[in-house]
Amino acid sequence: MRITLLGTGTSQGVPLIGHPNEGLDLSEPKNWRNRSCAHIVSDGAHIQIDAGPEFRLACLKFCVSAVDFFFLTHGHSDHILGMDDLRRFCDLRGGAAIPVWTTPEGKARVEAIFPYGIRPRSERGYVALEPRLAEPDATLACGTRVQTTLLPHGPRFRSLGLVFTEKKSGQRIAYFTDCSEVPDEAVALARGADLLVIDALHRNPHPTHLNFEKALEASRKIRAALTVFTHMTYRADYARESAALPPGVRLGYDGFVWEDGVVSED
Ligand SMILES: [Zn+2]
Ligand SMILES: [Zn+2]
Repeated sequence: MRITLLGTGTSQGVPLIGHPNEGLDLSEPKNWRNRSCAHIVSDGAHIQIDAGPEFRLACLKFCVSAVDFFFLTHGHSDHILGMDDLRRFCDLRGGAAIPVWTTPEGKARVEAIFPYGIRPRSERGYVALEPRLAEPDATLACGTRVQTTLLPHGPRFRSLGLVFTEKKSGQRIAYFTDCSEVPDEAVALARGADLLVIDALHRNPHPTHLNFEKALEASRKIRAALTVFTHMTYRADYARESAALPPGVRLGYDGFVWEDGVVSED
């Protein structure tokens, strides 16, 4: 089982446009963050989670060559606006639509933004998407089990928390982005995962996202073999914040690869 983080930045990306980005070492490539999304290869299938504005560029840079299944955690622009570039993956599937599992809000946003793409097969080169409501517990055609839970993303919004279990290895990856809390049900679902990827904006508190302290608290409860932070702002300098994290927790970066329990160090 392999996951590649295609983006690890917050909604505006990192660094910020027209901003001094004080405290951020811009000579460190790990501080240049696309909007958050990830690609998993499990039981031989390619599973894409979210597609932000840099999705196409990230696919080229990090060698994503197929998408069989798509999970949209929620309909915010930093997670949805790259979905039109799934058209190339439709072509590679012979024109068959890509199944998209999401929340009711995510489904409505997909249908509103890409009305021309809601079809079983691509026509005239358009993307073809089949939005569906994510089930709490489902098994993909490849054999991978996908369990979902709704995570509070501020007081009025919910995003989809995802736990993938590879059939052939039994390995489990939990992906909890864009959340302001990790409820007990989500902790139970992810407990003891091989890898937890979790929203961790920066040190300061925030109304709609976990900060480092709250992400660490969730990480201690979940007790994954490795916890990796994502969705970070310019305030999270890679070297400075990495040095302050406890064992078993680290900052993600664009191009971070975890495969069968091993992180590919570059
Ligand atoms: Zn986001
Ligand atoms: Zn969001």
